[in-house]
Amino acid sequence: MLESKHIDFLKDIVGEDNCFFDKAHKIAYCYDATKERYEPDCVVFPRSEEDISSILRYCNENAIAVVPRGSGSGFTGGSLPSSGGVILAFEKHLNKIKEIDIKNLVAVVEPGVINMDLQKAVEEVGLFYPPDPASQDYSTIGGNVSENAGGMRATKYGITKDFVMALRAVLPNGEIIKSGKRTIKDVAGFNTTGILVGSEGSLAVISEITLKLLPKPKYTKTAMGIFPSIESAMNAVYKTIASGITPVAMEFLDNLTIRAVESKYKKGLPTDAGAILICDVDGSLIEDVEYQLKAVEEKFLENGASEFKKANSESEAKDIWFSRRNASQSITIYGSKKLNEDITVPRSKLPELLEEIAKVSKKYDLKIPCFGHTGDGNVHTNVMVEGGSKEQLEIGHKAIEEIFQIAINLGGTLSGEHGIGLSKAPFMKLAFSEAEMELFRSIKRAFDPNNILNPGKMGL
Ligand SMILES: Cc1cc2nc3c(=O)[nH]c(=O)nc-3n(C[C@H](O)[C@H](O)[C@H](O)COP(=O)(O)OP(=O)(O)OC[C@H]3O[C@@H](n4cnc5c(N)ncnc54)[C@H](O)[C@@H]3O)c2cc1C
Repeated sequence: MLESKHIDFLKDIVGEDNCFFDKAHKIAYCYDATKERYEPDCVVFPRSEEDISSILRYCNENAIAVVPRGSGSGFTGGSLPSSGGVILAFEKHLNKIKEIDIKNLVAVVEPGVINMDLQKAVEEVGLFYPPDPASQDYSTIGGNVSENAGGMRATKYGITKDFVMALRAVLPNGEIIKSGKRTIKDVAGFNTTGILVGSEGSLAVISEITLKLLPKPKYTKTAMGIFPSIESAMNAVYKTIASGITPVAMEFLDNLTIRAVESKYKKGLPTDAGAILICDVDGSLIEDVEYQLKAVEEKFLENGASEFKKANSESEAKDIWFSRRNASQSITIYGSKKLNEDITVPRSKLPELLEEIAKVSKKYDLKIPCFGHTGDGNVHTNVMVEGGSKEQLEIGHKAIEEIFQIAINLGGTLSGEHGIGLSKAPFMKLAFSEAEMELFRSIKRAFDPNNILNPGKMGL
């Protein structure tokens, strides 16, 4: 509960129309995709970078927690006000594409711009912004940068960090800083942009983002490989890419996921397959795209694919992608709650990773459907439990901890794209030594000595 003097100050800064203390706003801004709930004390819509600066300076002086929030689509509780305080939301005012610089292939945006709006705007002038998280229709660029979001096209084009050239940000003491430049090369000073990307709103509030763009490739082709076993599919993933072909995307569904999608949508999927791989290749010369597709086909067949289906039209391509796009909501047939993680390993370790996950599934007698971005070594593991059962939840969490440990033992990470937030914070100790955690804490202290910005996140 904020004191009345704080309420008056916030109203003075942004006006009564941009600052809310009522129950409806508190409820509307109390959740994210984890479905955990923490009510803030108020929701503020800053109109400018100067507003952000005044709010942060005041909150810093008065020890009030501030939590930046994009669209609240995060999977780890990053935008949840777990210590109460002020939600800073950008969707109302700070949501403009400020510039598309076609001479330098650069876009400059405010943090509340929706990813898909940026993609569409740059495509209108023949350009391309590749990072495409599955939440692209509603997640914001500010949220994408803060989580270092990935997407389907990451195998070829990389993730958000590969496109962030420069930032403007507001420190918790209200100081406005700039990092990076609108240049391909910039090695002057520390890489502050690199520290802020993926910092989950815990170091500074990002107020402007300069992004690299690419020319839009003219052609994309889609295909699906059907494999008898998960092992043959995982071998095909890394062997295809190691052979020198870089598909735009290489996604997989395991047998449990295939069966779940089929039972829900009746699309004629191969329910006896061990796994399917879905793959896009692109380019601006059709001969090159055809060549890549042929090379993928050869590699898939060499690694045991029983069938390789090419899409002959856009609607056939959509059909192939349908199963992947609907995987997440289909697997709920296996349990009312999914403990959904996004571990990532070097691609060559995928066969071993999936084998070890199968052992955990057997050990705990839990269904663990897996799908995801195998082209990046990123596997969405979904431990399915009955949410109402405390016992099942406990067992599910034990299984998750073992899966994290397996990923780390294979040289992988706790999270490929969803971040740490609140939900993975207890597992940071599996992945980082005390010296490494202390380094993280000292970076946090340098930016935010009073710990007002998104406190309690990332295990800091
Ligand atoms: C169905 C679904 C599919 C998804 N698919 C993907 C996927 O393919 N790839 C992927 O990477 N993620 C995916 N996600 C997760 C999520 O969409 C991403 O993490 C996304 O980047 C979050 O954006 P947001 O605008 O919703 O941010 P929020 O969830 O609101 O916030 C995320 C974090 O960013 C911080 N933040 C937000 N704005 C700022 C700012 N201006 N300055 C400082 N910090 C800020 C918040 O404090 C929080 O810590 C998916 C989520 C859903 C629900």
